Amino acid sequence: MARPQARCQSHWPFAAQALSLPAMAKLYFYYSSMNAGKSTTLLQADFNYRERGMQTMLWTAALDDRGERAADHAIESRIGLHARAHRFAPETDLWARISAAHSVEPLSCVLVDEAQFLGEAQVWQLARVADQLGIPVLCYGLRTDFQGELFPGAKALLGIADSLIELKAVCHCGRKSSMNLRVDAEGKAVKQGAQTEIGGNDRYVALCRKHFTEALGWWK
Ligand SMILES: [Zn+2]
Repeated sequence: MARPQARCQSHWPFAAQALSLPAMAKLYFYYSSMNAGKSTTLLQADFNYRERGMQTMLWTAALDDRGERAADHAIESRIGLHARAHRFAPETDLWARISAAHSVEPLSCVLVDEAQFLGEAQVWQLARVADQLGIPVLCYGLRTDFQGELFPGAKALLGIADSLIELKAVCHCGRKSSMNLRVDAEGKAVKQGAQTEIGGNDRYVALCRKHFTEALGWWK
């Protein structure tokens, strides 16, 4: 009797062809609520590359001015790690900047913090870096804002990234926190305002969806 497995393979020439192709560099999106350790995870990944003598390029959003080393262009994590990084503004051409750097000294990885602030075109530029330069691109950012709306960069990354990885933080109830509640100086929930209000993690509380909607009084 013919072995089913062998017959199967003969019917799938394209699959066999695909298996022989070299591995592609991927565009990754590590997303979470606030305080899930995104910057820490990014800096650990960067360390792993550099420890092996590989060159990396770090990026963070230009509008993030927190921390006293802001003038030093640093990515900082809450547990005290930090590293120098380039800053992207809305008009920054990431393809041009990364491909130019790569031609001087080959890059093994590009890491982007605060990726929720990327524009859609910039996310496509990062996809091009992965596809045409063969460099893995690791993006770290928030999924939604204080009203539960997708950030532009998160929307584009959720749409086209090869790998979506959720980093988990915990609500006070013990559930996974997926939402970011904005609070005022008195700790009261803020319902309206600009999507971006940089200036302190203490203005946000990471909550599960149940406690987020309760805090905003949505179902009253
Ligand atoms: Zn909760």
